[in-house]
Amino acid sequence: MAETLFSKIIQRQIPADIIYEDDQALAFRDINPQAPVHFLVIPKKPIAKLSDASDGDQALLGYLLLVANKVAAQEGLTDFRLNVNNGAGASQTVFHLHIHVLGGRPFSWPPG
Ligand code: 5GP
Repeated sequence: MAETLFSKIIQRQIPADIIYEDDQALAFRDINPQAPVHFLVIPKKPIAKLSDASDGDQALLGYLLLVANKVAAQEGLTDFRLNVNNGAGASQTVFHLHIHVLGGRPFSWPPG
């Protein structure tokens, strides 16, 4: 997979406000937050987008949700929204799989 902004954040080649890290995952604040709390959870494994994940990624994908939950609690959130943009047509702009976690304000449905 090609280098992305997020692989550079993993490698500390560009700065980010990292709020969680372990051997499989990283969470950092979005540079252009869409809510009072807005962070991204990414796997360290380079997967460009959700539809590139395979059966072998089953545990990793579940783990990312648990990290999202853990960091949301760390941020004091009880209600929050998770969002995964898959592909340019769904507004994905960085092609390293990431889960947006947003909280701290009300959210409507359906999303735009
Ligand atoms: P996407 O549109 O691909 O689902 O989301 C990419 C997100 O990454 C956007 O919300 C954007 O603000 C965020 N982002 C883009 N570049 C950077 C960066 O260099 N640092 C951080 N922390 N966030 C970034």
